[in-house]
Amino acid sequence: MSLRNERTLYQRKCDLCGKNIISIYSQDKPFKVYCQDCFWGDKWNALDFGMKYDPNRSFFDQFQGLMQSTPRLAIVNKKSENSEYCNYSFANKNCYLTFGNHYEWDCLYGHYSTKNKNCVDYLQLYESELSYDCLFSKNCYNSICLDHCENCQDCLFSIDLKSCKHCLFSVNLRHKNYHIFNEPYSKEDYFKKLEEYAFGNYKQFAEAKRTFSEDLRKKFPVRAIYQVNCENCEGDNHKNSKNLKYCFDCAACEDCAYGFQMDETYDSMDMTCMGYDRSEVCYQTIGCSGIFNCLACDSCWHGNDLWYCNLCFQSKNCFGCISLQHGEYCILNKKYSKEEYESLMPKIVENMKENNEWGKFFPPKLSAFNYNETVAHEYMPITEEEATKKGYKWKAKDKREYKKQEHAIPEHIKDVEKSIINQVLACVECGKNYKITSAELKFYKGLGIPIPRECPDCRHRHRIKLRNPRTLWKRNCSECGIEIQTAYSPDRPEKVYCGRCYRKAVYE
Ligand SMILES: [Zn+2]
Ligand SMILES: [Zn+2]
Ligand SMILES: [Zn+2]
Repeated sequence: MSLRNERTLYQRKCDLCGKNIISIYSQDKPFKVYCQDCFWGDKWNALDFGMKYDPNRSFFDQFQGLMQSTPRLAIVNKKSENSEYCNYSFANKNCYLTFGNHYEWDCLYGHYSTKNKNCVDYLQLYESELSYDCLFSKNCYNSICLDHCENCQDCLFSIDLKSCKHCLFSVNLRHKNYHIFNEPYSKEDYFKKLEEYAFGNYKQFAEAKRTFSEDLRKKFPVRAIYQVNCENCEGDNHKNSKNLKYCFDCAACEDCAYGFQMDETYDSMDMTCMGYDRSEVCYQTIGCSGIFNCLACDSCWHGNDLWYCNLCFQSKNCFGCISLQHGEYCILNKKYSKEEYESLMPKIVENMKENNEWGKFFPPKLSAFNYNETVAHEYMPITEEEATKKGYKWKAKDKREYKKQEHAIPEHIKDVEKSIINQVLACVECGKNYKITSAELKFYKGLGIPIPRECPDCRHRHRIKLRNPRTLWKRNCSECGIEIQTAYSPDRPEKVYCGRCYRKAVYE
């Protein structure tokens, strides 16, 4: 994960055409960075940077040399329109600052999601529309702050609702209308209450969000493990999967172990951020899609028999290559005949075994990024001092990004004027500057919710905090006492129910 920068973006120039572009690589990188048009175009060839393999040097050292010289794709974003601030993205239109999202329209600040329309601030949200600050939910409409909800409309600040409409501060409901704190209301009383809450006001909204993030989770029981339509799966947050061992956040996966954040991955081990196309027989891979029989690959799409490759597309039978398209029988970006490749490859493997490199993923020192720019820092935050001690690079705070906010944001969304889109705002939490786009303002006005006072990064961090850790503990069901395996650690205050007790509480 320390090799994956998802959401730290820079303005820089394309080193081929000179155009101003958005990139995950800052201007000071030793290698060249190309815009989409240049990278996929025919004005350059990654094989021109090929290196002859030297059996007397460690493979990782040689790969590091190749990394210094081979041009890289500015941002991993294919087949998108008006979405140049999106990374690890595919087929999006009019999207802004979304990461790991595919097939989306008019979406802002989303993460690991697909097929949403007009949604803002979300994490693992699918096929939803006009929703704000939702996570782990699917097919929701006109909703605000939902967690693990499906097929819901006009619901707010609620958790684990299925097929509900007009529910507020509710948890574990099925097929219900007009409920507040799980209690039924008449339609008139419900809307009267909703008006009293006045969520268009910033303070009221922030208080409701606190209720959603903290109180509700302690008040109502939670299920030990969240799995839907799964068979023989270990771990939390799985859907439509079979035979998973110690995995998290998987959809349509089978026979995998020690992986998280994966779609359609089969017979694989030790990997993360796998999707959107089916991958099979992979080990130690990150950010790959549609690959087969691959080892230790980072951001490779549609290929097979790739070993220790980075950013290779539609390639096969390559070893230690970077930025190849349609590559075959290449080692360190140098082209070989099939026979040469097949005789050299086992020798490299032998050398790697001797150097204790074989079978391992690239070490963090090979990362093109600073530790605090990467996904690793989201899961395992460390201080600058700790990072330096471990030999990781660190991104210093850029003082230009922290101007004082001059503009006083009105308390209520109805009083916010259009000119706010020209203001530079400062995050109340970290002080970092951010802006409100015109699409965003229209969205907040439409839903009647206040302008956020935190920057998109802090908002993302809040959602990550609501996600269970990717760890399993043994504890006892809070209702019947049997031993359960759960992502809620024993010292947490939630009432954690085994599957049977949860079903009893919700359906009976
Ligand atoms: Zn260019
Ligand atoms: Zn912030
Ligand atoms: Zn129980």
